Amino acid sequence: MTRAVLAVGSNLGDRMGHLQGAIDSLASGVDVVAVSGVYETAPVGGPDQDDFLNAVVIVETSLTPHDLLALCQRVEADHDRVREVRWGPRTLDVDIIAMEGEAFDDADLTLPHPRAHERAFVCVPWLDVDPGASLPQGPIASLALDRGGVVRRSDLALALPEESQR
Ligand code: AMP
Repeated sequence: MTRAVLAVGSNLGDRMGHLQGAIDSLASGVDVVAVSGVYETAPVGGPDQDDFLNAVVIVETSLTPHDLLALCQRVEADHDRVREVRWGPRTLDVDIIAMEGEAFDDADLTLPHPRAHERAFVCVPWLDVDPGASLPQGPIASLALDRGGVVRRSDLALALPEESQR
């Protein structure tokens, strides 16, 4: 089994419903082993749009990276992802941030995710579930990140999918 780090985000409609739904749907294809806290984050780039809720999910899987990407895209589609504008508002975004032992770049998939190191909305929740996490650019804990737009919502929590709860 390979450990993978996924980032989930939503800034349209029932944001918590989309994120919890994503975690529950992912469990049909991978083992979900940990879920970070929920962070409200200011949108980066793109048009004027509402704040996101973001979280990081750790999974274990024997899927290939491309099959894991296909699962993530299926989960996005299942949640009626709406994306009319690049970097615009979306009901659900699921990205693969990193996969243990995998480093490559092809037309469909780049691992680790090429922009993860500059995204506080990925790195801050990732630190919740893995304080020792690192990317090719260095340990996440030492990256110079602008954490200004990333606020922990301690009133919100995502649950592990039911079958993973002990
Ligand atoms: P986005 O609009 O951010 O969800 O980008 C999705 C596109 O990025 C898809 O066409 C994927 O094939 C591509 N992609 C490349 N690397 C990754 C990755 N690590 N995780 C998710 N999508 C990726």
